[in-house]
Amino acid sequence: MPDPTCPRCGAASNYLLSPFDRAGGAPPSIRLCLSRVCGVGFTEPPPDDTAAAPALAPGGEVEDRLAARMVASGMGHLVGDLAPGALVVDVGAGSGLRARVLAEAGMQVIAIEPDAVEEMRAHAMMSSLSPEAQRRMELVRAGVDDLPDVMAGRVADAAVMWHVLEHVPDMDGALRTVGGALRVGGLLSVAVPNRRSAEALAFGRRWHGWEPSRHRWHLDGDSLRMVLGASGFAVRDIGTRGGWGYPAGIAYSLAPGADPQVNPKRGVVGRALAAAMIPVAATARALGHGGQLVALARWSSGYSPLR
Ligand SMILES: [Zn+2]
Repeated sequence: MPDPTCPRCGAASNYLLSPFDRAGGAPPSIRLCLSRVCGVGFTEPPPDDTAAAPALAPGGEVEDRLAARMVASGMGHLVGDLAPGALVVDVGAGSGLRARVLAEAGMQVIAIEPDAVEEMRAHAMMSSLSPEAQRRMELVRAGVDDLPDVMAGRVADAAVMWHVLEHVPDMDGALRTVGGALRVGGLLSVAVPNRRSAEALAFGRRWHGWEPSRHRWHLDGDSLRMVLGASGFAVRDIGTRGGWGYPAGIAYSLAPGADPQVNPKRGVVGRALAAAMIPVAATARALGHGGQLVALARWSSGYSPLR
């Protein structure tokens, strides 16, 4: 079987590995390959769009509080650069945890989420916000392609795309669409799994972060920097800081059957294991080898990179 061409740039690719299928059953026909030109990793064949939807991870009270603290820490680098009242778009808002942190920090938030179940959870979450924070938050069931309609002429000061790029068919197009919703110089916070993390190297084909049934793209710091730059963003910072690392990635690599997305009945076990992995993830993160890359970039409208 010849190695496929990169769906992003059309260049030849090198075979990287055949990921372990957590869900089981499927033949090992899925390959991850790296483009020889743009350096982006991709899943071949690509996951279909319905499978790319986030699976429902059942939450508990303790986990919700832990997740909220992790998200607050992850949004810190953005909030610190924005004035109260700044307009922030959260693209792929999921269950709304980031939007909540931003609204409670005084930002105006437009949160868009294409998945019906996640959007319902975000609505439920919103009802627990203070009336002031609720008034600052607008939640719309929409994908990135709908963003121009949602914005309706409004211009945002910042955007958030956490764990979105690895799912979308067209990363460059999605980034340009988000850039088009920003003022020139507006900030973008991006998070993706880090394919060159210590845990990806340690677990190899069993690394949870490959998620071949849901992730089309596999990035490292260099390729994320390149994709952001090619779409008109001037990268200010890329690292594995931000958030608490990716403890769930380590936990579900160790025990795939405890992943709540694979086996909801063992969700309690999986979450406990993930909590136990927080110190490991935090150490890898602090050393720059964490499972999650976080980038902060400015929209330069593709012409003159701003610093
Ligand atoms: Zn490529």
